[in-house]
Amino acid sequence: MLPVAPVKVALTDALEGLPDISPRELQALHAASFFTVGDVLMRIPRRYEDRRNTKPVAALLNGETASLLVHVYSAGWRFSYKRYYEVSVGAEGDPNGARLLLRWFNMPYVAKLLATGMNLSIYGKVKEFAGKLTMTNPDFEVMEDEDAGQRLVTLAMGGVATPLADDGAEVLRVHTGRIVPIYRGISGLAARRFRRLVWDLLFRLPEHVAQPGYDIAPTYPFREALQDLHFPAEPEQYRKARLRFALAECFSRQFCVAWRRRRAQGRSGRVNVTTDGYFQELLSTLPFSLTKAQLRCVQEIRVDMASTRQMNRLLQGDVGSGKTLVALCAMLLAVESGGTAAMIAPTQILAEQHFNNFRRLLSNMDVRLSLRTSDRAEDMGYVPDNPAEADDTPRLLVGTHALLYKKNRPRNLALAVIDEQHKFGVAQREQFVNSGDSPDVLVMTATPIPRTLTLTLYGDLDVSVIDELPANRGEIITALRNPNHMKRIIAFMQSELQAGRQIYIVAPLIEESETRAQAAATTELEKWREIFPQEPIGLLHGRLSPEEKDAVMAAFRANETHILVATTVVEVGVDVPNATIMLINDADTFGLSQLHQLRGRIGRGQHKSYCILLSSAKPGEPGREKLDVLCRTINGFEIAEEDFRLRGPGDVLGTAQSGLGAVQFTEWLSDMRLIHRATRDANAILEQDPELLRPEHAPLRELIAAEAEQGVTA
Ligand code: ADP
Ligand code: MG
Repeated sequence: MLPVAPVKVALTDALEGLPDISPRELQALHAASFFTVGDVLMRIPRRYEDRRNTKPVAALLNGETASLLVHVYSAGWRFSYKRYYEVSVGAEGDPNGARLLLRWFNMPYVAKLLATGMNLSIYGKVKEFAGKLTMTNPDFEVMEDEDAGQRLVTLAMGGVATPLADDGAEVLRVHTGRIVPIYRGISGLAARRFRRLVWDLLFRLPEHVAQPGYDIAPTYPFREALQDLHFPAEPEQYRKARLRFALAECFSRQFCVAWRRRRAQGRSGRVNVTTDGYFQELLSTLPFSLTKAQLRCVQEIRVDMASTRQMNRLLQGDVGSGKTLVALCAMLLAVESGGTAAMIAPTQILAEQHFNNFRRLLSNMDVRLSLRTSDRAEDMGYVPDNPAEADDTPRLLVGTHALLYKKNRPRNLALAVIDEQHKFGVAQREQFVNSGDSPDVLVMTATPIPRTLTLTLYGDLDVSVIDELPANRGEIITALRNPNHMKRIIAFMQSELQAGRQIYIVAPLIEESETRAQAAATTELEKWREIFPQEPIGLLHGRLSPEEKDAVMAAFRANETHILVATTVVEVGVDVPNATIMLINDADTFGLSQLHQLRGRIGRGQHKSYCILLSSAKPGEPGREKLDVLCRTINGFEIAEEDFRLRGPGDVLGTAQSGLGAVQFTEWLSDMRLIHRATRDANAILEQDPELLRPEHAPLRELIAAEAEQGVTA
């Protein structure tokens, strides 16, 4: 009997119309956002399990995991402490040979599928119980003998079989005896059921189905690549397929980046030509001089601002490298040219800090400085006599998201600085870029990010890097300590307090809720009040109102409180040079970049500083390696790369970055060569067809339109 000719499907076909999917399964699929054949086939295996280790029963070893082709000699229910279904199997045609017992617990339906006399392909781990080799809940498939001695899989659905053989024995297996794809679980649908669905849909897909969208690799047909991706015969095949799809995904991304970069380069902006008045004045009042790297960055920015093009620049630098000051210099240049300069920070604390900082630095200068947040508006410096003119007067503005709202949107905007860009969506950057004033835009990131990510998230921007820390910095010692050593740590803290220094204490990380994080911080506070009853201690957490936060920070900055117990709210940007100890509880539960940010809160003055990582994680335990990385280096760029390596690009993106749409093949995010290649391909196309008018480029036009619509336009 030959396989039934399959009903063909198209990628866009709704799952709803297909036979063989039960209403309950359909519901589960819909709930997991699978609506079309394409949705299912584009679900990427999370990993593969090599189940090719095929063995005869007689050769099985205790403890090994193997696939076997076996014959069922007896089957029935058993009961020991629990009811289970037991099947005794052995080599076909060898009724007195070696036996293996298969046992299924909590899977009553198995009894309906298995019976004496069947041939099975099974996969599982062998264990010896009371002298007998057994497998518990093995994966299995029922095989059927065919007339011509051929064996075909009994197909539970659709009556479709593929004439694909994978081990020369003309045996077809989906779940056993082959490299098996493992997908992320779908609630309400068994893993093997989904695998089976992929198999069947793949088989029904026409041979020459075109890849949706622009096909970057037409020589490796889409259908074949899908087969290699889901059901590879060799690891080599899925590697090849993943590379193809990764390239396609990377290309889509980098094409949009290249497109935006070209647009931006063509966009004219204000010509902000300035004399150096304010800028020089600031430099002359600073108690230090700018580092070479800071000066270079200011110069790069100045050239951009003076040009007829709109500036779109990313300012990168390690924690404490002095990005804010570079931004302030740029803002002064903008004000000097007759416009307004605005800096947007992601939190109230940061906006207030920048404002206070600028207020101090500009106190002797004749510039207007304003703070705008949703709770507070404050102005200082020169105020014009006629209030009606006020809005058109050049000034420096510092604020939060509030600045983005229409009514607060600064008029006559010459420069927009976005601090900690990753905390904003990209859509928000676009709001400035495309506003009527066409201001120059400077974007800053808090934490250094891996080089590859700079290209995918900010590839449309020019980049300035502050690759040097100010010279006057005290050394930072990082120490990993077991909580058992608390006594000595406390003694050391005591001595630093006596020397007049201040201390941050970070409460254990609680991510589920602000309320619980608050509770943890409060517990921590009580503990330290007992240890240091004489010391004034502040408490900072996310549940405080902006005024409260501000008051807590102000007290710590003014050295009125000597210890600040905090949640990760202190993570970014907070700047108190007199603080020399950063004590982090349960350090292993924090992310590497987060720890680096926290450590960046100390070592900001000339005093030697100490980052104490409390953790009981032993070498080799999860969470330990990143602590070792932290002890080894203070270079944020290096740490960013390590974070990427340890956690994988997907996780880093998930927690640290917004602005990148769903990425399926996260491997390309760390593959510089692939990114370069995709960027080159994208530019080559745009070189030839800048407006994408050619019919073959229609999918690329759609790609651009779709991205713009999603607002995912990093
Ligand atoms: P970040 O790059 O982390 O935003 P900041 O801009 O907050 O760093 O700067 C950290 C501290 O270093 C601030 O107190 C700032 O005044 C100081 N600083 C900035 N530039 C220099 C410099 N060239 N020399 C000495 N101190 C500097
Ligand atoms: Mg900063």
